[in-house]
Amino acid sequence: MLQQKSAIVTGSTSGIGLGIARGLAQQGADIMLNGFGDGQEIEFTRAELQRQYGVKVRYSSADMSQPEQIRAMADLARAEFGKIDIVVNNAGIQHVAPIEEFPDAKWDAVLAINLSSAFHLIKAVVPEMKARRFGRIINIASAHGLTASPFKAAYVSAKHGLIGLSKTVAIELAEFGITCNTICPGYVKTPLVDKQIADQAKAHNISPADVIRDVMLVHQARKEFVKVEELAALAVFLASDAAASMTANAIPMDGGWTQH
Ligand code: NAD
Repeated sequence: MLQQKSAIVTGSTSGIGLGIARGLAQQGADIMLNGFGDGQEIEFTRAELQRQYGVKVRYSSADMSQPEQIRAMADLARAEFGKIDIVVNNAGIQHVAPIEEFPDAKWDAVLAINLSSAFHLIKAVVPEMKARRFGRIINIASAHGLTASPFKAAYVSAKHGLIGLSKTVAIELAEFGITCNTICPGYVKTPLVDKQIADQAKAHNISPADVIRDVMLVHQARKEFVKVEELAALAVFLASDAAASMTANAIPMDGGWTQH
């Protein structure tokens, strides 16, 4: 479905990003992986995806809090693949703390990685997408882009902002064959959430099992974590020709959470 296409997926050394990179590669797209982690493990993943799906898979260690590194990653993808068709802004971090104790540096980091990085990468790829009159921009926000929870001031602000950015870009670029949508997942059991389970247990003074049942999945009517593969399938659809008229949407995949 995505042969001859190329994609950058930020934060794709783990969790949802890796699942989306795998989904796009499976459909024939060349992939620029990005994110942190153990060098050997990342190289293993890169080589495995390349071999399994017969596509080019490259890796950029760009730090999404650094605009010049984001621009260099876009240049690398262009040099490797000749063009950039699909961008998935997925890199994200979380910090959980009461507002009065929320560290300034954590606020800045969450805003930079979860929101500003998408601005910088979109800005870097749009000129050539416009020139070729094709582009698919997929931003990974969260149910927390649509609704709030306590102790997550920076994350909720960044994810609401990402939806605003996404809608603006979509409207601005709609006549150039470029779509921009946001996926809003409910809770997915990835390393990011594993860390939150521990942090939330401390903040609420309850056990990890109670955090999963009474905090995380309390509004997720389906009472199950969303699966990475389900999100990958949605991203593949949004990247496809069949989704040409879908733009400016914030699409929840959250087991019913945000419709409560
Ligand atoms: P994860 O921790 O498993 O993966 C995060 C990825 O981002 C990793 O590859 C990491 O190396 C990368 N990353 C972190 N900081 C970076 C930086 N400065 N520069 C480059 N890469 C960086 O997390 P995940 O759960 O897969 O989350 C992925 C995205 O999905 C995030 O934006 C997150 O907010 C969002 N999300 C997650 C959930 C969930 O329940 N897991 C729910 C809704 C939204």
